[in-house]
Amino acid sequence: MRVGLGFDSHRLVSGRRLVLCGVEIPHEKGLAGHSDADVALHALCDAILGAAGLPDLGTLFPDTDPRFRGAESTLFLRETLRLIKEKGLSVHQVDLVLVLSEPKIAPYRERLRENLSRLLEIPPDRVGLKAKTPEGLPLSAEEVIVAWAVAVLRESPS
Ligand code: MG
Repeated sequence: MRVGLGFDSHRLVSGRRLVLCGVEIPHEKGLAGHSDADVALHALCDAILGAAGLPDLGTLFPDTDPRFRGAESTLFLRETLRLIKEKGLSVHQVDLVLVLSEPKIAPYRERLRENLSRLLEIPPDRVGLKAKTPEGLPLSAEEVIVAWAVAVLRESPS
């Protein structure tokens, strides 16, 4: 077993789509970034890459590279899964925490979990997803979404 930890944060701004865990969520603001800025998938990719001893997301997919402008972050996840497969590893389990004030995630939580399960090709009961409001934290809560992710990898049977 190998374990990795990932973190990311993006600002919420007007005029952008809000994409979390590869799912577009209706909201008047979206996350700013070079790609679709899917903060959850970015944290998740870094957790997986870290567990595999690979370079982080920003190194593999630099935000200065015009090829990744507006890219769907599911592309980064697919490439991450390809890279760990090359190392004889696969994702066994993941757990994510989103820290945000808006929008409320509860109505979408199961859809997001199911999409992660589908993207990772693991059963939904090995995908954890929680949303927390940032009470007492010194961040401009309504303007940012923060994501933490843990990934457990295992050696793939050859
Ligand atoms: Mg990011």
